[in-house]
Amino acid sequence: MNLLKDEFVSTNKGKVSLKAILTSDEDYQLQYYFDEIQLAMLQLLSSLTTVVLQATVSELKGYLKNGLRPEQYDAKLERIEADWFEADCFMQSKPPKSAKWPDAPITKLLSGIECGTSPNAIGLFSDMEKAKVVCPDCIHGLNYNLHMNIKGECFGPTGATGIRGGGAISTLISGSSLKETLLSNSVAVDFFTNYAQLDDDADMNPMWVTLLLGGVYQAQKIGLVRGLFALAYHIGFTIEDAPCTCDVCGLHSKKSVTMFNREKYTGSYGSTKNGRDTGAGWWPHPYTPRTIKDDGTYAICARDQNWSSWQELGSYIVGKETDKAMVEPAFIIKQYQHMTNPKQTNLLIGGNIADQGSITGRIYDLYSMPSSLSKQLSRVTQVVDAGLEQKERLSKALNKMFGVGYDKNFVGGIKEHAMQRFTSNAQQIIQTTLLDVERKEATQLRKEAVEALKQEAERIYQNVQRKYQHDLPLFKALVKGEVALYKH
Ligand SMILES: [Zn+2]
Repeated sequence: MNLLKDEFVSTNKGKVSLKAILTSDEDYQLQYYFDEIQLAMLQLLSSLTTVVLQATVSELKGYLKNGLRPEQYDAKLERIEADWFEADCFMQSKPPKSAKWPDAPITKLLSGIECGTSPNAIGLFSDMEKAKVVCPDCIHGLNYNLHMNIKGECFGPTGATGIRGGGAISTLISGSSLKETLLSNSVAVDFFTNYAQLDDDADMNPMWVTLLLGGVYQAQKIGLVRGLFALAYHIGFTIEDAPCTCDVCGLHSKKSVTMFNREKYTGSYGSTKNGRDTGAGWWPHPYTPRTIKDDGTYAICARDQNWSSWQELGSYIVGKETDKAMVEPAFIIKQYQHMTNPKQTNLLIGGNIADQGSITGRIYDLYSMPSSLSKQLSRVTQVVDAGLEQKERLSKALNKMFGVGYDKNFVGGIKEHAMQRFTSNAQQIIQTTLLDVERKEATQLRKEAVEALKQEAERIYQNVQRKYQHDLPLFKALVKGEVALYKH
């Protein structure tokens, strides 16, 4: 099987090839049980599209507008090393003979981070038994997912951290079809070259072709294809001659995989403390928004169960400067702003919510974006800002409770619970409001968002008031707080 030629992608129309998705008008939709695998597949397929097309911005615009013919795809394929993408070598390298090469059940690959000994890392599955056997086609999505998410420190001697850092948030463009999504998320080589400023002698081969050696992995020496599929582990799979129904794609297969082996690489990327301290630099992975601080660059991660992506939405698209850090949107968003496609496009934000080595939840949020992003960005940011302002008002109003003299933890708990409800309900309001982003003027959108968010904040506030109406000091404090909440 070759990932650039053969049918390994699970869709609503069965298994199809990347070529079929890119060159036909069939409405394919990815079909995987777990949404993080769906997210990983979108990135894997977009990266493979990058490899095949090696397009410039203007060529990419052309493919988005006019499509890509099968002959064009084949001609492109002739010009690249398609052998690198054979199933038996893709993203797999062999460890030295002396290595321990320990094996593990395939379940460990699914969450993107190994289980280790932590009980929470398996928290993604209501039932572990749900993912015990996979088909040989799906191992590539799992392997890619592991390498793009893995954070090593949490797993002691067996752990290594990938090029993006552990559990990084991904921002992707979500097109109106799978084809449009993959094209929109493929990297334009001219724009990337300009942006990344890699060294002229950067290694263009993938890491399973020219192996990584230990030490520090200098970002500017890592070429585009090498970085898109960067490894943190030697990895291998045992393909068994036993039929199965795959627990990841649900399709029947004549062969099955239940175990894998891995051995970590010993060097460090700039995504790790060691790499930062030794000046490895940050490799600009196209789907990772990042924070730039005095002591280096960090991937944006969701560390808290109550984290909601809408609060950061504006900075994911335009960036944000605070006194201590700067948020830089992912490369692909910058590229999209530069290209400004003619059609309406959505922004997909996904990733794991990680706490140390544990995954405690997932994010998979879709936001509506105006077609001409750079010109009409205020439509989006005004809606988000309305949410942040309302959140601030609610917080100020609830703060009055602290003046009563009650135990701080008790009052803090009431406040936190109310704030969490607002943050999570605001997510839906903002997503819904932005659905009209193409059709309504900025002022109208903002007005609607403000109105809905205000009602939500007031509803939550009134609930707290109702709950504590018999606690006179607390109730009085909450009445005082009304000024902060209601006065506009
Ligand atoms: Zn499968």
